[in-house]
Amino acid sequence: MPNTLSLSYLHTAMREWRRHLHQYPETAFEETQTAQFVADKLREFGLQVHQGLGRTGVVGTLSAGTSGKKIALRADMDALFIQEHNDFAHKSRHDGKMHACGHDGHTAMLLGAACHLARQPNFDGTVYFIFQPAEEGRAGAKEMIQDGLFELFPADCVFGMHNFPDIPAGQFAVKAGAMMAAFDCFEITIQGQATHAAMPHLGNDAIVAAAQLIMALQTIVSRSLNPADPAVVSITQIHAGNTWNAIPDTVLLRGTVRCFKPALQSQIAEQIRHLSATVCAAFNVSAKVLFNPENPGYPVTWNSEAETAQALQAAIAVAGVTGVDTQPIPSMGSEDFAFMLQEKPGCYLWIGNGPSANSCLLHNPHYDFNDELLPIGAAYWVQLVETVCHLNAA
Ligand SMILES: [Zn+2]
Ligand SMILES: [Zn+2]
Repeated sequence: MPNTLSLSYLHTAMREWRRHLHQYPETAFEETQTAQFVADKLREFGLQVHQGLGRTGVVGTLSAGTSGKKIALRADMDALFIQEHNDFAHKSRHDGKMHACGHDGHTAMLLGAACHLARQPNFDGTVYFIFQPAEEGRAGAKEMIQDGLFELFPADCVFGMHNFPDIPAGQFAVKAGAMMAAFDCFEITIQGQATHAAMPHLGNDAIVAAAQLIMALQTIVSRSLNPADPAVVSITQIHAGNTWNAIPDTVLLRGTVRCFKPALQSQIAEQIRHLSATVCAAFNVSAKVLFNPENPGYPVTWNSEAETAQALQAAIAVAGVTGVDTQPIPSMGSEDFAFMLQEKPGCYLWIGNGPSANSCLLHNPHYDFNDELLPIGAAYWVQLVETVCHLNAA
């Protein structure tokens, strides 16, 4: 069983905070009530609080002792544009929005750790508690960094945690190197020439060209890349036409790319451009390709060796050796904590949310964060601070 006794006295409070946040979900860069809730709690615990970094981000600072060691811990605060299908008392009261990724739980766990460390500062150094906006596809971490996050709060290292379904509840999974993939989005506009559906020879059919191009794009992973390098190219949208008997002049395709190496990101982008141009040319239509047209892509979430060893030590102290998977298979999902890991050495780990049965997968309308994790995750944060900023540190 996890060693969470030291934080169990905060379980009821953290559950209350978590369920409050679940009831009032706010999406990217609109987390104003959430940010205020977090800031009020941090002030109540006695921390120094900075608001409005990266628009709605909050940073709390807590120092103890005399060492110059500085550690940053990060939680995400944003919800998703998903209509909740749960029917419990704490279900979302914001129509069309819900905490379906557990960021309500991440926020509550980091608040719990701040509360405990303020009361019992058994560490020597400074802890920055980062509550970031807009993790879901809008790169809130990048915005906080551009807004001066690490100049204002010059951490030596930075750590993140995300719940993960199908890892046993309260267990951890972490390893050095890639934990989550880089992602890019792309948009291909195929321009043909419209015509009557019964007279295809009088136009240039963008739909037939699009069908060929979609199949050709499947060969990037299977034929162009080294099979030892995992990657995904998925077409996720096709938009064209609006009636039965006319061939439209344009087709819009959108999709996403995932992989674990920056060099592969550019290699795949180059191949998407090449196939779009050549396949479309073969059908007398043209293609315009845009990458990340609306929001920045995310880099690989890459854990550094030394900080991963510290995270591992803290996770084992909480969950025991058998409660930590040290060789998890990296996820092809992506995470904007990767931007923080580009700036500072650090480590991102998963805490098990339990089985995904009953539709409890991330981004599912039936998802709910497992409240039993709250004292376990908070205990990990406390243990990590006490490990990295241990008393008598140089
Ligand atoms: Zn998510
Ligand atoms: Zn998430």
